Amino acid sequence: AKEKGRNTYRFYAAKMNAQSTEQLMLESALRHALDRGELEMYYQPKMNLQTQRIVGVEALMRWHHPILGMIPPVQFIPIAEELGLIVSMGKWALEKACADALAWQKHGLPEVLTSVNLSPRQFESRTLIADIKAVLESSGLDPSLLELEITESAMMADPEHAVTLLRAIRDLGVGLAIDDFGTGYSSLSYLKHFPLSTVKIDRAFINDLSQDADARALIDGIITLAHGLRMKVVAEGVETAVQFNYLHSRGCDEAQGYWLCKPVPADEARDFMARHLRN
Ligand code: C2E
Ligand code: CA
Ligand code: CA
Ligand code: CA
Repeated sequence: AKEKGRNTYRFYAAKMNAQSTEQLMLESALRHALDRGELEMYYQPKMNLQTQRIVGVEALMRWHHPILGMIPPVQFIPIAEELGLIVSMGKWALEKACADALAWQKHGLPEVLTSVNLSPRQFESRTLIADIKAVLESSGLDPSLLELEITESAMMADPEHAVTLLRAIRDLGVGLAIDDFGTGYSSLSYLKHFPLSTVKIDRAFINDLSQDADARALIDGIITLAHGLRMKVVAEGVETAVQFNYLHSRGCDEAQGYWLCKPVPADEARDFMARHLRN
C-alpha cells in the first residue's frame, strides 16, 4: 500500500510538472505576444431588440500563438492578469478598438458603440484614467462612442474606490457597463451609486431561461431594476430564437450572442454591419 501511495504521488508530481511546464511556456510566450503582433481584436455585434439594428460591438481579445494556435481568453487573460501584462495588453486593446471604430466610420458605416473589457487589474491601475484619456485624444474617437465593461466582482472588490473611478471615467464622456451581472454579490443599493449606463445580464441566466422559471424571474427583475435606474440592459450569450423572443417580450434593450453573430475579425464585423444596413 505504501508503494502504491508513492506511485500515486509520483504520478501526480509528474502531472503537476507537466502542467507547470505548460504554464511556464504560456507565461513566457505571453510576455512577447504583444510585441510580436500575435494579439488581435475580434468584435461581436449587439442588436437593438426594438429596431433590430446593430447598435454596438463588444471588442474581444484573441491570441494566435505561432505554434500552439489560437489560445482562448479564459486561458491567457488570467495569466496576463497575474503577470501584470494585462495593463499594457488592455491599453493596446483600447487603442485598437478605437482605431477600428474610426475606420468603420470612415468606411461609411453609421456610428455604433464600441465596448471594451477592463480587467480588475486595469481597474486598480493608477494610470487608468490617464490611459483612457490618452487613447481618446490620440484616436480622435468621440468618447460617447466608447463604453467600458467592468465585471460586477471587480467593482465590488472595493466599492468606495470603484465609485470614484467610475465617476472619473463617466466625466470623460465614456459609458460604463457592469458585466456578468447577477453572478457577483452586489448589494443592490450600490447599483444606484455607480454611474453606470448599461447592465449586462450574465450568459448563465440566458442559457437557463427556457427551462428554468427562476432564471426568468431573475432576468425580469434585472430588467425592471435597471430600467428603474435609467440603465440600458444587454443580454449576452443569446443562442436561440426562444431566448431572443423572450428578451424582446420583456423589454430588454439589446442582445448579443451566437444566434446573431459570433465574435469575428474587424473586417468581417464591418461587412456584417454593412450587410445589415442594406436589409
Ligand atoms: P465576457 O466579457 O463575458 O465576454 C463574453 C464571452 O461570451 C466571449 O468569450 C464571447 O465570445 C462569448 N459568447 C458570446 N456569445 C456567446 C454565445 O451565444 N454563447 C456562448 N457560449 N458564448 C458566447 P471570449 O471571447 O472567449 O472571452 C471570454 C472572457 O475573456 C470575456 O468574457 C472577458 O472576461 C475576457 N476577455 C476577452 N477579451 C478581453 C479583453 O480584451 N480584455 C479583458 N480584460 N478581458 C477580456
Ligand atoms: Ca464583457
Ligand atoms: Ca460578460
Ligand atoms: Ca459572462
